[in-house]
Parts: sequence; C-alpha cells; structure tokens
Amino acid sequence: HAKGSGRNMLEVFTPEMNQQVSERLLMEVRLRDALKRQEFELYYQPQYDLGRNCLSGCEALIRWNSPDGLVMPDQFIPLAEETGLIIPIGTWVLEEACRQGAIWNRALATPVSVAVNVSAVQFRPALVNEVRGALDRTGFEPEQLVLEVTESVLMSDIEGSIRLLEQLRSLGIRIALDDFGTGYASLAYLKRFVLDKLKIDRTFIMGIPEDKDDVAITSSIIDMARHLNIITVAEGVETEAHCEFLRKAGCNLAQGYYFDKPLPAEVFSQRLQ
Ligand code: C2E
Ligand code: MG
Ligand code: MG
Ligand code: MG
Repeated sequence: HAKGSGRNMLEVFTPEMNQQVSERLLMEVRLRDALKRQEFELYYQPQYDLGRNCLSGCEALIRWNSPDGLVMPDQFIPLAEETGLIIPIGTWVLEEACRQGAIWNRALATPVSVAVNVSAVQFRPALVNEVRGALDRTGFEPEQLVLEVTESVLMSDIEGSIRLLEQLRSLGIRIALDDFGTGYASLAYLKRFVLDKLKIDRTFIMGIPEDKDDVAITSSIIDMARHLNIITVAEGVETEAHCEFLRKAGCNLAQGYYFDKPLPAEVFSQRLQ
C-alpha cells in the first residue's frame, strides 16, 4: 500500500507493476500445472564421510523442468511458499526421495541416507503424518531419512518446534539444522532442539583457510557439535584446501562442488556402484 498522498498512489501503480503482478499470476498457474504434469525432478548431491573416505548419503534438491528450461529452487520455492503450493510440492518431494532411497538401499550392502529440505510452511504438526505416510508407502528405512530445517523455521515457534522435532524423531528419522550460523538461533537452543546433524553454512567454508574468522568459527562449530554428539556436515566444499582443513578439524561429512554437483538420480546411482 502506498503511504501518504494520492500523488504517491499514482506512482505506485506503474505499467511495470501491472506487468509484475501478471507475471506472478502466470508463474503461479505454471507452478500448479507443473505438479500435475510431473515436471519436478529431484537431483541428489553426494555427501562424503571425511573420516572413512566414502560416500555416506545425499541431499535431495528440487529442479523444475519447465517448458522454458531448467528452473532452480530459488526461482520458485518462495512463490510456492507464499501460495501454499509448497505443501503438495513438499509431499511429492518427500515421497519421491523415499521411493528413490528405498530402491538404492534394497540394492546396497551399506545403506545411504537421503536428506530432504523442509520449508517453514511445511513445518507444522501435519508433517508427522506426511512423513509416516511416505515411509510406509515406500518402505524406506526411517533411520536413513534426514529432514533439513533452518534456524528461522525453528525459532518462529520455539515450544511448538521442540514438540514437533520430538514427534518426528520418534518416527526414527534424523533432523539436520541447515545453513547453521546464518540464522538467529542462540547456542542455548542446540540443547533444547534435539538435532542429529549441523550443516555448517557455505559462507563460512568459503573463507577457509585464508580468513582467520571463518577458520575460528568453523573449528568452533565442529568442536562444539562433537561434544554435543551432533554430526557435522560442511556445505559448499569447493577446494582441496577446504577438504583438508575440514578433515583435520574433525568435520564428519562434506558436500560440495569439489566432490560433485547435485546429480540426476541415474547419475547418482552410478556413483553408488
Ligand atoms: P540448501 O538446502 O542450503 O542447499 C544447498 C544449495 O547449495 C543447493 O542449491 C546446492 O546446489 C548448492 N551447492 C552445493 N554445493 C555447492 C558448492 O560447492 N558451491 C556452491 N556455490 N553451491 C553449492 P540449490 O539446489 O539451488 O537449492 C537452493 C535452496 O533451495 C536450498 O538450499 C534449499 O533451501 C531450497 N530447496 C532445494 N530443494 C528444495 C526442496 O525440495 N524443498 C524445499 N522446501 N526447499 C528446497
Ligand atoms: Mg539443505
Ligand atoms: Mg544449506
Ligand atoms: Mg540454503
């Protein structure tokens, strides 16, 4: 809404704005259709165990094969959240990731874990039944499913989040705190939110080893997590130097372009062999 005078009002509704509004509506219609036409696809980015030197799992990342080409999540997840479409999309992501994970693990001696991103809109009591349903229908082992949530998701309703995390974990699944260090959760909450994994945000890894602050922050997160019995995952590992530093610092898992980009399911399947 325009504040102040009518003159400002006139300035607000420019032709460009009208165009923006109709582009948004068009995008919403396209997103809705995308689900029906099964245009979404999950890519899988490998996560490597730095201690054992082996692949331990992956993160599922959504892509949209739109009629105009491949669309990345940053381009449509925010609108999907605003319109509520993230609920059916999120349900599809969960089921698809579990279906694929169950296929991989039936064929493997050592099972892989699959991590799924959960947005704030999905993080509500109904999520428990959605996860249970996806596990039941696909036969995926709960121990191998990881849900990734961010600090801001948990902090918006602290008591509710604590209860929901308990219910989710009682299904046997794991919880990872995504983009750790960029939100506003105080360290005290690490005690109250029962977490299995901390994902150290890419922005800290980027500065390693030159930036002394990033080095200090990353080492401290790893040490703290170890003492709290929480597994550490480094995101955005792009260089040999990142990898060496993280291994020496005792980081458990690493994910990033140094190893692999997110891969289509068939390509990830080949990595597993
Ligand atoms: P995220 O969960 O933090 O995922 C990590 C992002 O970093 C991914 O971007 C990944 O492709 C990218 N990445 C991985 N390794 C590197 C690296 O070495 N360097 C750099 N520069 N980037 C790297 P992507 O796939 O574009 O996803 C962006 C965000 O979209 C995700 O951030 C997540 O918040 C959201 N997202 C993705 N898939 C889903 C989904 O299925 N559901 C929901 N709700 N959100 C999703
Ligand atoms: Mg994530
Ligand atoms: Mg992340
Ligand atoms: Mg992110």
